[in-house]
Amino acid sequence: MNQAVSSHFMKEALSLAHMAFEQDEVPIGALIVDANGVIIGRGFNHVETSKSQLAHAELIAIAQASATRNDWRLEGCTIYVTIEPCSMCFSAIQLSRMAAVVYGAHSPRFGYQLDKIAMGGVYKKDIKTYSGLFADEAQGLVKQFFKKQRKLGECKITGLEKDQTGIDDAASGTRRTA
Ligand SMILES: [Zn+2]
Repeated sequence: MNQAVSSHFMKEALSLAHMAFEQDEVPIGALIVDANGVIIGRGFNHVETSKSQLAHAELIAIAQASATRNDWRLEGCTIYVTIEPCSMCFSAIQLSRMAAVVYGAHSPRFGYQLDKIAMGGVYKKDIKTYSGLFADEAQGLVKQFFKKQRKLGECKITGLEKDQTGIDDAASGTRRTA
């Protein structure tokens, strides 16, 4: 793993994921660090509360970082996110011209790597990605979340299509048909 990758920041991202957990949201946290190692944006998944697919942790962190900088260009910045970003967020990260993405656990169902989308010419292509940092913690939190939801019997979250990460599927070993 690259030297620039910091466990400290991923721990911070995990604490943001815990905040999502407390609000009955799929626990995913993200933060953005500038080239000087200053945190300029934080976010945690808020899709259910906001009733919006735009409320992914990464997009919230990007909005905050852009406001902090008063610029949409986040050159030299690194985003730490507990779970592999989806293709929407990964594209937003590229468009924001960030230097690197550090994520914890893979998202077998919705991770951007699944899509391998052909990026247009305006997208930053040399973005570096690192994975696996605190993956067990990030994954464990998501598993714990879905376990809790099942116990509560709240169909709002436990609907089969609701586990956007795919982690819970892998955990339970159940097969689902699309
Ligand atoms: Zn996303």
